[in-house]
Amino acid sequence: ALSFRNISKSFGDNTVIKTFDADIHDGEFLVLLGPSGCGKSTLLRMIAGLSDITSGELLFDGEIANDWQPRRRGVAFVFQTYALYPHATVRENIAFPLIMDAFRPWYHLPVVNMIARARLMKRADIAERTLRIARQLELEPLLDRRPASLSGGQRQRVALARALVRNPSLYLLDEPLSNLDAKLRTQMRSEISALHHKVGKTFVYVTHDQVEAMTMATRIIIMNKGIAQQVGTPDEIYDEPANTFVAQFVGSPP
Ligand code: ATP
Ligand code: MG
Repeated sequence: ALSFRNISKSFGDNTVIKTFDADIHDGEFLVLLGPSGCGKSTLLRMIAGLSDITSGELLFDGEIANDWQPRRRGVAFVFQTYALYPHATVRENIAFPLIMDAFRPWYHLPVVNMIARARLMKRADIAERTLRIARQLELEPLLDRRPASLSGGQRQRVALARALVRNPSLYLLDEPLSNLDAKLRTQMRSEISALHHKVGKTFVYVTHDQVEAMTMATRIIIMNKGIAQQVGTPDEIYDEPANTFVAQFVGSPP
């Protein structure tokens, strides 16, 4: 489980997250919902260890993790822009995190020796895991293509595959469908939900799209201006909005 205890975040004297308290349960699909600029990406980056916490505590399974290196957190991050490597094939893009992991024990060696060692190791293992995730996301026929030749939805699936290939315990997805057309977005919603059911891990999913939140979430944290306005299941938030901001944002009847 993941807990925020009185977290705040400032850039200079601009405080963008204010006294944020929340618990994220193991295995849930938590959606962070709120308008542009309310601090959603900043919260995800703090979970991933990509952004410092100004004050308060972030706990991973009860342990204070504020100063943990990103690697130690076991998270996969799918960014708002998919950031694929344009010169690499789909296969290489997906395998990249595994290749980096294979190199890691040899970081202390000169580069030439490091490459020689990493080549000997794990090649079959990397190929096998890359293929397995590619099959799950129906990318197998595209493995030798490059990102420029793919559709938006296909690129999105490659970005997902690359994030998932390591078997993370926590999935952080930052508006992963924002660049897709309506039809693909609907299709990818169900694919991501299916993936959540299959792997049974914790997902934290950022969006400003009410429909996405309502259809995918087990629970929603709705934010405005760096403050959590309400936490609850989609039904709770829709039926009993805590304030007028929430009611208007999720379109509850007055
Ligand atoms: P969107 O839906 O548009 O992606 P968001 O909810 O993800 O918005 P954040 O990116 O978390 O919003 O930004 C929250 C606030 O923090 C914004 O006002 C933004 O300008 C500010 N901010 C984010 N990153 C930085 C930074 N590195 N330096 C200064 N201000 C920042
Ligand atoms: Mg954002």
